[in-house]
Amino acid sequence: MSIEQKEKELSVYESMAARYDVAARQLGLDEGLSNYLRTPNREISVHIPVEMDGGTLRVFDGFRVQHSIARGPCKGGLRYAPTVTLDEIRGLAAEMTWKCAVVNIPFGGAKGGIICDPSQLSAGELERITRRYTAEIFEYLGPERDVPAPDMNTNEQTMAWIMDTFSMHMRRTVTASVTGKPLDLGGSLGRREATGRGCMITADEALKRFRWQRDSTRVIVQGFGNVGSQAARLMYEAGYKIIGVGDISGGLFNTSGINIPRLLEYVEKHKTIKGFDGGDSIGTQEILEQECEILLPAATESVITSKNAHLVKAKLLVEGANSPTTAPADAILFERGVFVIPDILANAGGVTVSYFEWVQDRQGYFWPEDVVNDRLKQIMVSAFDGVVGYGEKHKVNNRIAAYMLAIDRVASCIRVRGIYA
Ligand code: NAD
Repeated sequence: MSIEQKEKELSVYESMAARYDVAARQLGLDEGLSNYLRTPNREISVHIPVEMDGGTLRVFDGFRVQHSIARGPCKGGLRYAPTVTLDEIRGLAAEMTWKCAVVNIPFGGAKGGIICDPSQLSAGELERITRRYTAEIFEYLGPERDVPAPDMNTNEQTMAWIMDTFSMHMRRTVTASVTGKPLDLGGSLGRREATGRGCMITADEALKRFRWQRDSTRVIVQGFGNVGSQAARLMYEAGYKIIGVGDISGGLFNTSGINIPRLLEYVEKHKTIKGFDGGDSIGTQEILEQECEILLPAATESVITSKNAHLVKAKLLVEGANSPTTAPADAILFERGVFVIPDILANAGGVTVSYFEWVQDRQGYFWPEDVVNDRLKQIMVSAFDGVVGYGEKHKVNNRIAAYMLAIDRVASCIRVRGIYA
């Protein structure tokens, strides 16, 4: 494979576009509309000056891509990482549009990112980066325009800083300007666990189809941050057998099962799974290739590629992360009979409870946790049935079915709204 082909395979945007093209063709979408939907509405690049703790001035590059507002305001996470690129953010923004449409919530898609290494920055520096970024894109944000949420290396604190900065500019407190906030600032009960819970709900639905039992279902989770650790905890509590866990420092493997509550306590203290004594250590990529029923990648993108897809032994792939599988790997997994619950369905629990948070903020009326969880379950089960049923009816795999369902919903809104001249 040439370097160019390899880069193309690993590009999040290219993976999204390849699947989009297949789905749009299957739907018979006309060329003009298809091109429109494939392209983001707006791409904002900012260069943020930030005073560092030592007194020097540094400039950080950041992006916000707003892919679509056809079905409602833009919605999407904000990530901080040295590897952030505009191409990645562009692909993830489009995926957000499809994800919101798959679970049928009234949002379009967006994504943001700042090129920085949070492990090398103090809390004060991160706060100043976040506030200046928010101020730079202020006029494009807001409950009716674009609502950010946490993603890789951003959290409730980051959202609190964005909400406060936005509110200072508006001269009033606007809690619905972000989701994934702390509870005291208008966050929703159940939001922290929502993405992991959504992964489990979809896995449960697949188990029903296969007539598998939870206690004999072995699960491997790559990534032990917000999504991975919550999915592992909830699945452990529900009776699944978690035999492998990985994070950036490496993997842990134990065929008798890993004690997840004990691992969570360890990670709380040490900030890594490295050194935990409840399993054998294994490479973080190697963990994807072990014998299991469910593989749940919940770390980062492009970890299952044309190079290792044939080594995946799981029967069910639940994509907790965004874009963990590259487009060329899809065909290999399909040939091997792996049942894929694609990212835009499996990890949609997060944006669904973000939607609930936005609704609660606008109502000023907050729901008990069991109401949040019940409504999440209703939406996830209905989306799972919708995608799998659509795939069976149209004889396409689950990923293409999810894209087709989503593109069709967005396209119908555009047809009815028309194109403003
Ligand atoms: P996080 O920063 O909380 O955790 C990321 C985890 O992945 C950490 O344990 C980290 O050590 C590990 N990791 C990072 N790079 C790795 C690598 N190369 N190999 C192995 N492990 C690695 O992030 P998160 O919020 O849990 O998000 C994880 C993924 O889920 C991302 O793709 C994100 O876009 C997606 N996602 C998150 C949410 C959400 O609600 N947080 C919702 C939908 C999708």
